[in-house]
Amino acid sequence: MKISVTAVTAFSGLKWRLNHGVLMNKLAFIALLLIFSTQAHAEWHSDTQGIMGTEVNVTLWHDDKAQARGAIDAVMTELRRIDALLSPYKDDSELSRVNASASDSAYSLSDELNFLIDKSLYFSRISEGAFDITFASVAQHYDYRDKQQPTNELVDELLAAIDYRWLQYDKSVKTLQFKHPKVKIDLGGMAKGWAVDRAINIVKEFGVSHASVSAGGDSKVLGDRRGRPWIVGIKHPRLDKNQPEAVIRLPLENVAISTSGDYERYFIDEQSGERVHHIINPQTGRSASEVMSVTILGDQGFDTDPLSTSVFVLGVEKGLALVNRLPNFDAIIIDIRGKVHYSSGLASGE
Ligand code: AMP
Ligand code: MG
Repeated sequence: MKISVTAVTAFSGLKWRLNHGVLMNKLAFIALLLIFSTQAHAEWHSDTQGIMGTEVNVTLWHDDKAQARGAIDAVMTELRRIDALLSPYKDDSELSRVNASASDSAYSLSDELNFLIDKSLYFSRISEGAFDITFASVAQHYDYRDKQQPTNELVDELLAAIDYRWLQYDKSVKTLQFKHPKVKIDLGGMAKGWAVDRAINIVKEFGVSHASVSAGGDSKVLGDRRGRPWIVGIKHPRLDKNQPEAVIRLPLENVAISTSGDYERYFIDEQSGERVHHIINPQTGRSASEVMSVTILGDQGFDTDPLSTSVFVLGVEKGLALVNRLPNFDAIIIDIRGKVHYSSGLASGE
């Protein structure tokens, strides 16, 4: 499938206004790989490790090699800590402990989980339930690696448990209780964005002012690449070996960028031929099917990550309406036919 060339060409005159007032007035659109350029240079330091079920890359500039190593190690340690807190696959994660007990009694949340739950509910409200961490009540029965999905009977049985309003949450005393016995929660739609924000804060503490951190589809860049912007690309959602790996390349500084795509974790169901992927429509308990990818630009991964998931579920029309209502965010959506859509901030060149 080809991404609409007209749309990509039209995009070339757009501007992305960074919050600190810098105007990026050149957006180059070349069909190329999603890259943070990590050219070999004595003072650039980079490492990639597998954490949070994805590839994490940290690239930063520092004139002291030991300090640079220290900063990278501190970031990787922090991301492992976040994974240990939020992983649904680890029985001793705080998330698993909440799921094990919050149907029976109110669970006392750590400050960090309190913060994340509060944010998730904000996105549930503004997306009218498209973003809903109780999606896991059904989604715990998907296994993308083993190509397993819940039967229609099981979805019917558990669908009622997907509703963020079952979450009895008290922010001030930091407690959470599930008011439906079958509720399970998962923070996979916001954990990586939170992680890249934390990572950038850590490198700043090491005196770094030029860095990029990516965790799968969520990235944040600090400063520029010393005189040049960071280049972040949006992957072609239906890549095959004859096609280039990215359709859009964005020159960016000081910004968070999150992409949700139906190609990240999926399998094709042999009977129906349908793509079964990891972004779930809370109304159906099945994969959301209106778009192939959503990219959100903003100040913090903590917002761009859940917003990209929300817009993916909402689809083009409602998703763009939501982004256009919110200040300081922009969106690039590739719909199910491969057409590219932009939020009004990009389309008007503001
Ligand atoms: P992302 O790639 O950031 O869009 O996040 C996808 C992840 O978000 C999935 O792997 C799930 O863990 C989680 N997720 C899927 N559907 C939803 C939903 N409707 N609301 C909140 N989180 C979701
Ligand atoms: Mg996201």
